[in-house]
Order: sequence, then C-alpha cells, then structure tokens
Amino acid sequence: MDIDRKCPSCGGTMIFLPGFDSLQCQSCGHKEIIPELVSKVPVEEMDFLTAQNTASHDWGMEAKIVQCRQCGGATIQNKLQLSGMCPFCGSTTVDTADPEKDIMAPMGIIPFKITENRAYYIFKDWIKDRFLAPELLAKNAQLNKFYGIYVPLFTFDVYTINRYTAHYKEGNRTLFKSGRFEHQVDDFPVIASKQLASDKLILSVLNDYRTREAKPYTSDALAGFPCEHYSIGLTDAWNSLGNEMNFYLKNQAQKSDPSKFLMGIEMTTDYFNLRYKYLIVPVWINSFFYDNRLFTIVINGQTGKIDGQWPKSFGTFAKKTALFFLGSFGLG
Ligand SMILES: [Zn+2]
Ligand SMILES: [Zn+2]
Repeated sequence: MDIDRKCPSCGGTMIFLPGFDSLQCQSCGHKEIIPELVSKVPVEEMDFLTAQNTASHDWGMEAKIVQCRQCGGATIQNKLQLSGMCPFCGSTTVDTADPEKDIMAPMGIIPFKITENRAYYIFKDWIKDRFLAPELLAKNAQLNKFYGIYVPLFTFDVYTINRYTAHYKEGNRTLFKSGRFEHQVDDFPVIASKQLASDKLILSVLNDYRTREAKPYTSDALAGFPCEHYSIGLTDAWNSLGNEMNFYLKNQAQKSDPSKFLMGIEMTTDYFNLRYKYLIVPVWINSFFYDNRLFTIVINGQTGKIDGQWPKSFGTFAKKTALFFLGSFGLG
C-alpha cells in the first residue's frame, strides 16, 4: 500500500507535474519521472461480460470519497490528502467516507499535459470574443481558481453487423436501397460523470481525448489531483449509447456508398465481442455561482480544448468587465 510521496532529497511532499509525466517536490523542486507514464505498454480492452469478475479494485493508494454537500459532486482522493474545496462548485462543505468495496479502479490514465498557467491563458483567449454580463461586475462575482481533476471515461470496442434500408434521389425519382455491412467500432467514448455529461458544450470538450495515448493507471498521477467518482456505471454507460451509436453506424452506411445521399435510413445491428476500457482523463474546471445558477467552464487537460457555460448578456461594458476579470488573475 502506498503511503505518501515523500521527496528522496528533502522529505517534502511531491505532487504530479502537468506536462512532464513526473512528480515534483513542492519544497526543493526535485523531479522524478513516473515510469508508467513513459511506458510504451498500451492499455488493453477487457471483456465487457466478465467485467464484474475481472475488473481491478486496487487504486494503488488508500482512497477516500469526498462528497460535496452543496452540489453532490463526489471525488476519490488519497486518504492522506487534506480535503479542500469541491472542484465542481467551489464549496468547502464536504463529507468524507470510505469507498464501497466494489468500486472499480481505472485501467488507464491520460496524464495532464496542460499546466494550470496555460489553462488561464487558454481561458483568456476564449473569453476575448464573449459578451460578459456587466452585472457580474456590480455583484462582484469572482471566478474561482481552475481545479485540476481526473474524470472517469469508458471507451467501447465492439464488432457490428448491420442491415439497413434507405432511399435516395436520382433525378426526379426516389429509389430504394438496402445493404449490409460489418464494422469494427474502436474506442467509442462515454464520459461517466453525471455532473459534467449533462451539458452539451462541456461534453464536446470531454469527447475530445486522444484515448489511444492512454497510459497504464498509476496513483502517482493522482498526487495533488483528485479523481471524480464515476456516477454512471459501466453497464449504464453502454446502454446510454443507443442513439449515438445508431447515428454513428448510419454515418458508416453513408460512407460505404458516398455516391448516393441516403435518406430515411432504418437499421438493425447485431453486436459482438463488446470490450471496454476504464480511463481517467484530465480536466481543468472552473465554476461559479451567478444568479443562483452554477456555471461551469472546462478545459481538456490533454488537448487544451475549452468550452462551458457563461451568463449571456449584451452589455456595453463587456470589454471592460473582461479586463477586470483577467486583471484579477494578473493576465490583463
Ligand atoms: Zn525535495
Ligand atoms: Zn460541489
């Protein structure tokens, strides 16, 4: 069982250093490469049907669940870490509990590439073209700081056999077409966070990971970064894919015959050899309350893609307000 990451040269606390696949000592700056993150070993999919029996439950550390009383968000943290703020809403009112016995441990991890500093500059660029509500300034609302957290992500591989009917236009005539094709689906992602997956803008950022670059899971990468407890289980994640998978496969049907524009596609699909990966992926998250509503902005910690919610208003002080906000980060 892992205890705490102590620096070998000074005994200080080591935390994960984004962009370097390393731990760094907070006192003396000593760095250590994390071997798992520079390994060439790919993260292998596992069989979906036997997941119950084969999934690992070993987090490589003594874990605790930290649950927010304000928004309900739950994260998994090293037991030795002090519980700070809720990364989802900034609240400091949190409860801690022991994790359930059957909570699955991740198979792979995408480490942070984007540093916290870089996250602010990405935000600064993003906010440039946005209108800000001038009332924000009046009410002196403030953005919280960006929190780095890992979010649970399942990916699915599955072999499909598809039969479909459709029609298409040729001149003035409508013609009928039927077809059959086989297609191997690879790394289809499902974010396993109810907290974040309910928003389309946020989801577009979280569906942007290069999942083939995932490394074998190591708790070292969690030093200083909490991990969200999955709130959508493996089976529910797969079941939630119905419409999206259908849409994706209809697109494949269209791709298999690009000369015709297919309309009204009806399809039946048989699925074989369903396999999955359970990854945790990095997010910089910033949230604030405004008008009793929680707004959330996220930055993909691997690719730097940003999006999120922002109060909409067409005030004339937009520019000024933006400068005020950025000024409070020393970026103006
Ligand atoms: Zn040190
Ligand atoms: Zn919260």
